[in-house]
Amino acid sequence: MPLTRRDFLRASAAGLGPGTALGSLLGLGASLAPATARAQQLRIRDAKATPSVCPYCAVGCATVVHTIGNEIVNIEGDKRSPHNEGTLCPKGAATYQLHKNPNRATKVLHRKPGATEWEEVELEWAMDRVAQLVKKTRDETFVERLSNGKLVNYTPAIFALGGATLDNEWNHLQQKLLRGLGVVAIENQARI
Ligand code: SF4
Repeated sequence: MPLTRRDFLRASAAGLGPGTALGSLLGLGASLAPATARAQQLRIRDAKATPSVCPYCAVGCATVVHTIGNEIVNIEGDKRSPHNEGTLCPKGAATYQLHKNPNRATKVLHRKPGATEWEEVELEWAMDRVAQLVKKTRDETFVERLSNGKLVNYTPAIFALGGATLDNEWNHLQQKLLRGLGVVAIENQARI
């Protein structure tokens, strides 16, 4: 039976199974807070702290970006901020991973219809290809009026889905462009 996160925590706290040492310590009432604070201090000890703002939404939570040389080593909520008081939502709290992430795709990949492999392509080519397909699909499916004569000017064949790392300004421009093209199915995977 797969171990859930809840099972893991319960077992750890009871001193059983994986995490026994941790569970035993917690069971004896030991607090890990000082060790956690110390680890955090060491991580940013020689870092320069620069005030910044979360890039994602209009709440505009304040952050502190820690850098050593030209490398970002940590991003966290700024406790001095009157509205987020050092907190960040899960999306904002993951901003560091936007900068540092070995899994982040850095090349444009394309899979031809029917192909099983992805190929690297130039960004310019990919942008042209997207534009051509949007125009073709819109031209082929555009509905000016419904059967009852009601003017609708839309296409039911295009759906736009934004990603969690798109910021406020990008989403604003994207929905303006898409609504201008007659796309009505516009969604965004926001702060989850
Ligand atoms: S995405 Fe989250 S952390 Fe960032 S500004 Fe909005 S609410 Fe704040």
